[in-house]
Order: sequence, then C-alpha cells, then structure tokens
Amino acid sequence: MGLYSQQLLDLKALRDKIGQIDDHYRQFMAINHRGKCPFCGITDMLGVYHSKREAYDHYLPKGIYPFNSINFRNLVPACHYCNSSYKLAQDPAYSSKDPAGATHRRKSFYPYTTAGHNIEISIDLSNPDIDNLTASDVQLTFGPTAISEELDAWQDVYGIEERYQAKCCSNDAKDWLEQIRIFRDEHGIDPEAAIATIRQQANKDLIANSNFLKAAFLEGCNRLGIWGSDL
Ligand SMILES: [Zn+2]
Repeated sequence: MGLYSQQLLDLKALRDKIGQIDDHYRQFMAINHRGKCPFCGITDMLGVYHSKREAYDHYLPKGIYPFNSINFRNLVPACHYCNSSYKLAQDPAYSSKDPAGATHRRKSFYPYTTAGHNIEISIDLSNPDIDNLTASDVQLTFGPTAISEELDAWQDVYGIEERYQAKCCSNDAKDWLEQIRIFRDEHGIDPEAAIATIRQQANKDLIANSNFLKAAFLEGCNRLGIWGSDL
C-alpha cells in the first residue's frame, strides 16, 4: 500500500520528476484563477497570493481506489468545507447505502473535464417575507435533466442544497436585496430592470461574488411579485 501513499510522493527521485505538491498547487491556481472552490462555487480558495494552500482531495477516495491515490487527475484542490466538512470519504461514483444496505453505481462529474458542466439553477421562495427566510422557504431546482444523475451525485456528496439554502438566508442575500432597494428608492430603477442587469452581469461571470446564486435568488423574489414600496 505504501506504493500509493505520501511516502512515494516524498521520494526524491519521484519528486524531482513530478515536482513538489506546493508547486503543483501554485501552478494549478495560476491557471484556475477564478478564486472560488470548483465544487461548491461559493467559497473563496487560497490562491497565488496566499502563503498557505487548500488541501487536495482524492476525488475517488484513496481508501476505496488506492491505485488512484497519486493519479494527479484524481487529486483536486477543494475548499475546506467541501473537502473536510461534507465530502470526507464519500464516493462520487456510488450512492450511500439504501435501506437494504446496497449501494448503487451512479454517473458523476469528472473534475478535469474541459467541456464545462453548464449547470442551471433556479430558486423559488415560498415565503413572501424575504427578509426573514428560513432554509425550508428556499426551493432549488437544478438542470438540465440530461445530467440529472451527475447533479444528484454532486449535491449528495457536497451538501449543495443546504449550503445554497443557507446562502439565500444569509447576510449576503440581505445585501443583494438591499441593492435592489437602493436602485429603486434612490435611483428610481424598476426592480425588474435592476434584476435583469444583475442577470446580465452574472452571465459574464457566474462565479464571481456568487453571481449565479444572486441572480437566481433575485429572480425568485421577482416571481413572488413583492416589490411594493414597503419592501
Ligand atoms: Zn467548496
């Protein structure tokens, strides 16, 4: 088993060949400079200007797939929450046990694909009191259905639904609403027009400032038809 472990990565001959993992991380983050975790899209990542780095996750857990433990296409930088709070040793390729104790093979996203995943997210809110939302008021819908199996695996492994719900109940979401109120009250800009602008901005960069969630959240608010002057 030592063949597939950190011991091997520490061997000088191999290190000279493949480089130090810190070097790999710096190079990786210089290319992948979006600044957010590629798995949740909402957590800032330590990058080229930080002296520390995020941990690498074995996407396919090394305890189950030891032959893949030093496959660099299986090593993925992930934020602390994705790696250490949610995913842990879960296997993206198999569901957790069902009531009968069986696991089921499932499709999951390949992190190193260059094709992109084009995930669609819409948010519906069941409570018009949008300043006092709770997680159960926030319904998330993910698409497209052609990749529903991969989407389910991703949500399952990384706790995506509850994390996005929490974000929509957070101070960030209150700040998103405040921006719409300032547009309306200070500048006379109709909320629908303001939200259309925010969607345009999100389409330029979905990841920056959690724009993909911000736009979906505000569109959900808009569908509630709540933009009275008292809001
Ligand atoms: Zn993350």
